[in-house]
Amino acid sequence: MRFNAQIYGPGFPSVGAAIDVEATETGIRVQTNEVDDGTPRWGKITLAKSGWDGSQLRLEWTGSAGVYSLASGDALNNAAIVKLAAGKSTVRPSRPDRATRAWAHALIWFFIGVPVLLVGAIVWQHDRIIAWGVGLITVEHEAKLGEFLFTQQKTGLKLIEGDALAMVRDIGGKLTKDSRHKFQFFVAEDKTVNAFAMPGGYVVVHTGLLELAETPEEVAGVLAHEVQHIEQRHSLRSIAQSLSLSAVVSVFLGDMRGLASLGGDLLQLKFSRDHEIEADREGLKALVAAKINPVGMRDFFAKMAAQSQLNPGFLVTHPPSEERMNDIDRLSKALPATARQVTPLAYDYAAIKAAISRQR
Ligand SMILES: [Zn+2]
Repeated sequence: MRFNAQIYGPGFPSVGAAIDVEATETGIRVQTNEVDDGTPRWGKITLAKSGWDGSQLRLEWTGSAGVYSLASGDALNNAAIVKLAAGKSTVRPSRPDRATRAWAHALIWFFIGVPVLLVGAIVWQHDRIIAWGVGLITVEHEAKLGEFLFTQQKTGLKLIEGDALAMVRDIGGKLTKDSRHKFQFFVAEDKTVNAFAMPGGYVVVHTGLLELAETPEEVAGVLAHEVQHIEQRHSLRSIAQSLSLSAVVSVFLGDMRGLASLGGDLLQLKFSRDHEIEADREGLKALVAAKINPVGMRDFFAKMAAQSQLNPGFLVTHPPSEERMNDIDRLSKALPATARQVTPLAYDYAAIKAAISRQR
C-alpha cells in the first residue's frame, strides 16, 4: 500500500516535508533519495499514536544520519499500516503527545468552563451584579435616565396644579432637603389610589390617593416611602432588573437610545419585599428628621390594606405584607416620644380635597 506522510529528521525542515511512502509486509520504502536508510524493516520501526486525539500515527526509525519519523493522519491508512506492522514493530504510547492531549483537554475545559462559569455567576449572582452595575451609574446619569423615562410616561398622565400640588411639593421638599438628587413632585388626576417613584427624583401622586388620605401626615408618610425608593435606588435597581445588563451598561455610558425600546409599564414596577421594608424604615427616619409626625405612614398603609379590594393600584406596586405592617408598627413604637410631639402640618386638607373633586 502507499500513503502520504510528513517526514521529519536529518536533512528535512523542522516543520517536516510531505512525502510518498510504500508499505509492504517487510517494511516501508520512503520515496526519496534524501534518506540514507529509506527502506527500514518493520523490526527497526517504532509505532506511536500521536496528535491530541491520537488520530495520527508516527513511524520512527534510526538511520545512519539520525532519527527519522513519519506522521500519517489518514485513519484508514493508519489502520492498514498497523496491520502490516503487527507483531514486528514496537508500539509505544508517545509521552509528549500525552502531554499535548492533557493541554488540549485543559484548553477545552477552559473555553467551555469559563463561559459556563460566567453564565452561572450571572444567574446565581444576578442581584449582586445588578447592584454592582447600578452602583456604577452616577447621580447625573440617573437624572438623565429619569428625565428620559418621565418624559415618556408624562404623555399618559393628566398632571394637575393647584393647592394639592403645592402641598405635595412643600412636604416633598421637607423630606428631601439634604438629598443628592433633584426631586420633582407631581400630582396626576387619577382615581386609582397610587403613587410612584422614578429614578432621578420623580415622584407622582394620584388624586385618588390624596382623596383617601385623611391628614397631610398620611400623605407625608407615602411621600417619605416613595422618596426612599429613589434615595435607596430601588427604582433604578428594579428597572435594571427588568432590563438586560447591556441596557444597564448603556445607562452607565449615558446613552439613552438603548432604552428607547423599553416597553412595559414602568408605573407598575414591582419592588422586592426587602425594598418595601427598607423604604418604610428609611421613610420613617426621614419623617422624624423633617419633624413630621411619623404616625401618618402607619395610618395610611393600614387604611390601604383595609381597602385592598377596592383599590388594588398602590398595592400592586407596594404590597402591604403583614411582615411590613409589623415592621412599621415596631419601628414607630421604637421612635422617641419627641418624634410624635411635633406641630401638625398646617394645610387645610379638607379644602384641598374639595378642590380636587371640583376640578374633576
Ligand atoms: Zn414601595
